[in-house]
Amino acid sequence: MPGTFVFKSLKPMTRRDFLARSGAVSTLLVTSRPASAAAQPQVGIPASAKPLFVSTWPFGRASNEAALKVFQAGGSLLDAVEQGIWVTESDAGNGSVGLGGIPNAAGVVQLDACIMEGVGHRAGSVAALEGIRHPISVARRVMEKTPHVMLVGEGARQFALEQGFEQGERVSPGREKAWKNWKAQQDAKRASKPKGHDTIALVGLGPDGHLCGGCSTSGMGYKLPGRVGDSPILGSGLYVDDEIGAAGATGIGENVLRYCGSYQVVEYMRQGLSPQDACLETLRRIAKKDPKGFDLSISFIAIDKQGRFGAAGTGSGFQYSVTFPGTSVVLQSPGLTAKSVGPIGGNRPPVK
Ligand code: ASP
Repeated sequence: MPGTFVFKSLKPMTRRDFLARSGAVSTLLVTSRPASAAAQPQVGIPASAKPLFVSTWPFGRASNEAALKVFQAGGSLLDAVEQGIWVTESDAGNGSVGLGGIPNAAGVVQLDACIMEGVGHRAGSVAALEGIRHPISVARRVMEKTPHVMLVGEGARQFALEQGFEQGERVSPGREKAWKNWKAQQDAKRASKPKGHDTIALVGLGPDGHLCGGCSTSGMGYKLPGRVGDSPILGSGLYVDDEIGAAGATGIGENVLRYCGSYQVVEYMRQGLSPQDACLETLRRIAKKDPKGFDLSISFIAIDKQGRFGAAGTGSGFQYSVTFPGTSVVLQSPGLTAKSVGPIGGNRPPVK
């Protein structure tokens, strides 16, 4: 419905609850386009409420909040994104990000990460990095200290060691035990189904209108050694265009990689779609072409230069985190399935 606040929080929450939870949340702006344009509510924050941080999943909220603190203490937006992501990378209980993640099929955690700064369109990335606690920082160092954009595997590890980055176990004892059980059940079937995955993709908008983003994951649990997903690939797991906006992805990386998903989201924003519509439209476009249709298990988050934000996922959607001064919430994104093309957006034909 035009003008209706559509987001649901982690626990069902009415708009009134949502507003009550934080005084500052009343600064959220909800506007609608005409009903003929599918009546998509657009949610954003006023310029005075920046910086804005948006990230994937409920665990992103702690990262957003850390990012906000770093920024408010005088750090740059890039520092904020990087150090925000540290929080999730450091969480030993998180099976999908950092060295606490589920290992690959060989029993070793291989980490993927990238970072991108709108100003100067700079980026750095690492993939299949072993035994280093903060891959997001190694990605930043690649961006800042090398003529390259991406380092992988042993080369990335050697670079991280030379740069003095903190090391950690290549797999945590708890996850090693689970891996041994998994391994015992595999009876030599090599390409058994990977399991367990998520990513922190965190995008930020500063008061000066500049954008940054970062992305970090241990990828698919029990993946084949050397497998790289979408997360460290610029344009797939993350993309930032300082003139337009930023987007990040989570879900089965293979289904994002083949479509340059985050780049597509930003390009739809360039064509005039809101962040939310851009995420939905990207999912529709991918599902239209892909033999799996909407059965893709992928999701996107996005923000634009104006401070609007949005997200969408296949299936029943997913939860994402939004933080700006005075407000930090987990929201439910709309989802798209073959049967219903979403709780909002209806059957609007895809953008040509
Ligand atoms: N996109 C990640 C990967 O494929 C996993 C996830 O976000 O669920 O490595």
